[in-house]
Amino acid sequence: MKIDRLPRDDKTNGWSGILAEREPASALDEDVRADWVVIGAGYAGLAAARRLAENRPDETVVLVEAGQVGENASGRNSGFAIDLPHNVGSSLEELEGSHRFMGLARAAIAYLEEQVNTSGIKCNWAQRGKYHTAVSPRGTSDVLEPFAKELEALGEPFTWIDRAGVAEQLGTAHFNAAVYTPGCILMNPAALTRGLADSQPQNVTLFENSPVTEIDYRNGVHVTTPAGSVRAPKMILTVNGFADAFGFHTRHLMNLAAHASLTRRLTEEERKAYGVAEPWGMTPANAFAGITMRYTDDHRILIRQGFDYAPGQRTTEARRQAVARQHKVLFDARFPVLPNVGIEHTWTGFICLSRNGAPGFGQLASNIWSAVCQNAVGVTKGTIGGLLAADMATGRDNPLIADMESLGTPDSLPPRPFLDIGVRSRFLWETWSNRHEA
Ligand SMILES: Cc1cc2nc3c(=O)[nH]c(=O)nc-3n(C[C@H](O)[C@H](O)[C@H](O)COP(=O)(O)OP(=O)(O)OC[C@H]3O[C@@H](n4cnc5c(N)ncnc54)[C@H](O)[C@@H]3O)c2cc1C
Repeated sequence: MKIDRLPRDDKTNGWSGILAEREPASALDEDVRADWVVIGAGYAGLAAARRLAENRPDETVVLVEAGQVGENASGRNSGFAIDLPHNVGSSLEELEGSHRFMGLARAAIAYLEEQVNTSGIKCNWAQRGKYHTAVSPRGTSDVLEPFAKELEALGEPFTWIDRAGVAEQLGTAHFNAAVYTPGCILMNPAALTRGLADSQPQNVTLFENSPVTEIDYRNGVHVTTPAGSVRAPKMILTVNGFADAFGFHTRHLMNLAAHASLTRRLTEEERKAYGVAEPWGMTPANAFAGITMRYTDDHRILIRQGFDYAPGQRTTEARRQAVARQHKVLFDARFPVLPNVGIEHTWTGFICLSRNGAPGFGQLASNIWSAVCQNAVGVTKGTIGGLLAADMATGRDNPLIADMESLGTPDSLPPRPFLDIGVRSRFLWETWSNRHEA
């Protein structure tokens, strides 16, 4: 079958824009054979390829990536490796689910951390924790107070921070309160994904700038790119929201565009005026109305705000410029003490969601597995999904496979245009009904 929807890189990713240039791996330009083919080099594909190679050191793995590593969603995100579920819930069943989620997320963090340390990946990886913030008293009582109770029930450490404390620790008076949890990792996601790609085991061959344009599932898998092909008996599909273009998870995945910006670096003088020394990261009580922010190791502020429904995984330059203007307004409202700090980079990445929050994980055919649809927490979920798909495919016993399967499979979606109308209305409703959290 022809693959009729391909990723496009508009070269705007700020996280890679602040790094030195990287020489990508060669494009595929011949016909090769391998024991395994993995398609898509985000967190899921990078973990799947590595784990296959570790589980089967005598077999060959080819990892095929349409663009350049670090320029996809995995390199464009906000750089939080999150160890806790966003919504815990208080029933016994929900608490058990949260324990399983934390087990999976923490296994992913441990796997990534081991690679960061053993391969010396320079991505500012640090356990800085995360502030979950509310702007209004209503957001505080509706979201933060229940969240704190749920953390207590889970036995997870946290600190409650009042308005004055948030102002002191984050350098902005915008927030009413925060719950700080210590386990989250912050890093530069483009640097991390580059490092993970460049430190793959010897029996993994990565091809970049090699979009799969055609795939044939007869007699194993035959993958065609513009200048070459790969034949392999077995495949792991890690293309996230593009999985339906490969004939899998059709009408089960929703794609959203998410927008982010980085300011320029603060000058010494501005840093003094700002008065906060350590990097931090915060997520909003309501993801639609609120914004995610970070103060980075190189003294920039990251703003992540706004979702668009994007079934075709495309955006426009006009939209990017409008987002940049909007992010500047949001920045100015939060940091009046930093009046002349411009936005240096604004970019968009694509997030894949399912209706019930379940991942597209597991066996799709006798010789095909997938780890897609990370529901916006792909640093940890993508990593563990890729690792466990490789364990499943190679028959390696791992109790976390059952935990991953307990998250369920994506529910089917209504047909378009009903889906489009439903998603857009839900966005408007969420944003309007939570406007006190803007
Ligand atoms: C702005 C933004 C902020 C976010 N913040 C966070 C955060 O802080 N923490 C977090 O955990 N998550 C965050 N996310 C979500 C996270 O980035 C994703 O969940 C994660 O990157 C998904 O990883 P993946 O490996 O499944 O998919 P991807 O990173 O999308 O990788 C899939 C790969 O498949 C490749 N591919 C697709 N089609 C083909 C083809 N035909 N041939 C070859 N290759 C192909 C693509 O080029 C891509 O490289 C954010 C996302 C965005 C956009």
